[in-house]
Amino acid sequence: MLWTNYFIPTVKETPHDAVVPSHVLMIRAGMLRQIVAGAYAYLPLGYRVLQKVTNIIREEMNAAGAIELNMPAMHPIELWEESGRVEAMGATLIRLNDQPWRRGTVLGPTHEEIITDIARSYISSYKQLPINLYQIQTKFRDEQRPKSGVLRTREFLMKDAYSFDIDKAGLDVSYDKMYAAYCRMFERCGLPYTAVEAESGPIGGDASHEFMVVTDAGEDYLVRAADGSYAANLERAEMLPVPDAGRDAPADVAEVHTPGLSTIEQVSRFLKCEPSDMIKTIIFQHTEGLLVALVRGDHEVNELKLARVAEVKGLEAATQEQIEKLTGAAVGFAGPVGMEARVVADQAVTVMHNAVTGANKTDHHITGVNVGRDFTIKESADIRYAVEGDKAANGSDLIFEKCIEVGHVFKLGTKYSDSMNATFLDKNGSARKFIMGCYGIGANRIVAAAIESFNDESGICWPINIAPFAVHICALDLRDENVTATAKRLHDELESAGIDVLLDDRDARPGFKFKDADLIGCPIRLTVGKRGLDEGIVELKLRSGSDVEKIAPDEVLSKVRSAIKSLAG
Ligand code: ATP
Ligand code: MG
Repeated sequence: MLWTNYFIPTVKETPHDAVVPSHVLMIRAGMLRQIVAGAYAYLPLGYRVLQKVTNIIREEMNAAGAIELNMPAMHPIELWEESGRVEAMGATLIRLNDQPWRRGTVLGPTHEEIITDIARSYISSYKQLPINLYQIQTKFRDEQRPKSGVLRTREFLMKDAYSFDIDKAGLDVSYDKMYAAYCRMFERCGLPYTAVEAESGPIGGDASHEFMVVTDAGEDYLVRAADGSYAANLERAEMLPVPDAGRDAPADVAEVHTPGLSTIEQVSRFLKCEPSDMIKTIIFQHTEGLLVALVRGDHEVNELKLARVAEVKGLEAATQEQIEKLTGAAVGFAGPVGMEARVVADQAVTVMHNAVTGANKTDHHITGVNVGRDFTIKESADIRYAVEGDKAANGSDLIFEKCIEVGHVFKLGTKYSDSMNATFLDKNGSARKFIMGCYGIGANRIVAAAIESFNDESGICWPINIAPFAVHICALDLRDENVTATAKRLHDELESAGIDVLLDDRDARPGFKFKDADLIGCPIRLTVGKRGLDEGIVELKLRSGSDVEKIAPDEVLSKVRSAIKSLAG
């Protein structure tokens, strides 16, 4: 490709609304243009990268035996009502309702409902199973504040796959195949990823994994053991029980006046104690009533863990009215002593001594509270998020890193086949629910995550397999015929060898060209200049290195080939 025949509108200025490196660099490198908040045009260079990523995904999906199809972005809301997900999706689900005939149409944030409808329509026998259907298709999620460039957008490209099996053992096989295919995809894309256990929903166990890329631009947290023995996302991360530190003799319970002081910070400052000396009492409601959670003052309730151990559905914060009715006090003064409701205490609360907590009386707390003497714990479990200082099961320290999810594999079980009544006939002719799995991967997010992982102050450093071009030829001294002819010859030679090559044939100063080459970040740079050619050489330099190798023009193809090979690892 000749630069002058192509379209790479690089810009010098850093866009004012771009914060994360991938966003800044994609705009500066002329890959991307925002069209509306959260939706971007991929300019040719950006689109090349996106296509390289989708090609890798498609190849690995096909190799794993999955079958490609394409489903529309527009869905009838009836299917979403059937699965009962309209409410859960909330405002994320884009509804088209400006005209009466569009009123039942939504834009798909994902396609479980559509594929389940297809499966129940066409798959009637166990003989047609197992099957894994996938697409690479545009999704719409009306994220309220889309930010971070293409890491989180309202319109994005996802590969989503759905497996249908006869039984759980079959699902395990389908899932393992997808897990392995994902590992290969990320490896080929050159992404440094970590697969973590994630919230697994109805099936439990190891039924869900997220593929994470560690980056400051991420909004999730990866929790891993320092010795590498464990990794999970923050929602899921488990830790060793907090040991009983032991303490002096139990104090007497005393009521203290804490006027208007309702937060852990306010009360601990006022009473000169640590937040970890306080019991935080959080009141929730669920479909069948109220639930009170106790955690240490410096810990946070993990609602997913709580809902799981308490086996309740629809867990959410109780209303002010509910709290006041239950505690007889204003919000902020609840405590476990005398609490008449179902209470689940976090494990760390079970080893607290002489704790401070709300008195169930407005503007009052009590001190010297001890488990067993002042209140009993009937149910205790791990219901909190891990924090700095917690340890993994084997005693190794837990480490927290910011990350972004690039892929997700999930054992759904019968979640959708139940709600949408999707069945097949088994060997004995009885109707059985499909056992499903779903597998998503974000193509745009892979592009951005790769830039987050590989960039420096001058620009992007693409992993070889997803680089827009493997080789970037900078032709200097364009008025010299030898330079023009040699650069063109090398370009043609590489191109006919099947290597993606970009020749910067613009009439511009060397410094300017090098800057753009560094910015757009192709892994191998060849410099063809008059001075070099006079000595019989051109220069080869890797974007990620600083060494410049002088080679004869005749050696270029073989040198480039071996550079590509070693970069691909
Ligand atoms: P997140 O927690 O980051 O919002 P998610 O768990 O909602 O993601 P999934 O429903 O698991 O995402 O979708 C599968 C994949 O689609 C994700 O792993 C991610 O790569 C991609 N993806 C999801 N939401 C977005 C988005 N708003 N913009 C770009 N890619 C996205
Ligand atoms: Mg996910």
